[in-house]
Amino acid sequence: MQDLEYLKQRIALMDYLRQHNWTARPAAGQQEFVGLCPLHRDHRPSFYVNARKNLFYCHGCGQGGDLIRFVELSEHLSFRQSLAFLKRQIAPADDSGLMEQTAAFYQLQLHRHPEAVRYLAQRGLRDPALIEKLGIGYAPGASLRRHLATQGYGLDRLLDSGLIHPQGRDAFCRRVIFPCRQQGRIVNLYGRSIGAAFPHRLLSRSKGGLFAWDSVRLYSTVILVEGLFDLAVLWQAGFGNTTCALGTHLTPAQFAQLCDSPDRSVYIVFDQDQNHSGQQASRQLTQRLHGAGRMARLVRLPAGHDPNSYFAAGATAADFTACIEHGQGS
Ligand SMILES: [Zn+2]
Repeated sequence: MQDLEYLKQRIALMDYLRQHNWTARPAAGQQEFVGLCPLHRDHRPSFYVNARKNLFYCHGCGQGGDLIRFVELSEHLSFRQSLAFLKRQIAPADDSGLMEQTAAFYQLQLHRHPEAVRYLAQRGLRDPALIEKLGIGYAPGASLRRHLATQGYGLDRLLDSGLIHPQGRDAFCRRVIFPCRQQGRIVNLYGRSIGAAFPHRLLSRSKGGLFAWDSVRLYSTVILVEGLFDLAVLWQAGFGNTTCALGTHLTPAQFAQLCDSPDRSVYIVFDQDQNHSGQQASRQLTQRLHGAGRMARLVRLPAGHDPNSYFAAGATAADFTACIEHGQGS
């Protein structure tokens, strides 16, 4: 409870919202502001903030509360995780050592579990130098907590980090792990199930910016894909200018990154799934980029393929280049 009051004093709701690119105009009262709701698709401003009371209320989706409630809703975190998330905003370097230790542990496990290496090969990932460069690892499950305990990490730290479930189990079990870095620091871990479990999982914390943006942003032409396996096969084929948003919906921070240079061209290669959500998302993103004055093109792969399956099925860099040259848009 002390934590809670401390956090509320340190971070005002309005400051937090402004840092997350919320724009507002003064509303009726002196301390009242209104803007588009960050929690639902809002077309006319319905999100009200009382800066003095540090409370928000949205007349569109009916959500309301304090800063912690806002973090719960916007980051999809539990109450406890939201507290930890806000603490990390005050002292962000806090658990980078823990995340590095975890990633290193998972990297070591990869070579001890042939089923994981077989899985990478099935997905077309064979270059050991690239696997090393991306820091890919494997989480067998039921072993991380013990390992980190021997490194001196207490259970509270592990629960706050999201690496261990409140029930005490490892968050990742039988998953190939990709560390997501931002300015050199690991901000999250992505785990792809190699078994029957739900395929995609990130730790309950911010997913961070675009993948490997520190290096990709230097290119004048950038390829944007949906998943990390798409990115990995493209890097393997020599397209080091590929980045990934971990999904088809970019956070405001990721969109801002994509737009941070006026001369950049973006090629969007999302999955062509049967429910067409990938195509729809890529069309919308192309329009948003055009709206921001950026060059963007949709790239279509042969029917039924995403970049990963295309390369795993034997496509070459020249085949992919041909697809890019037939891209649509301007
Ligand atoms: Zn709303």
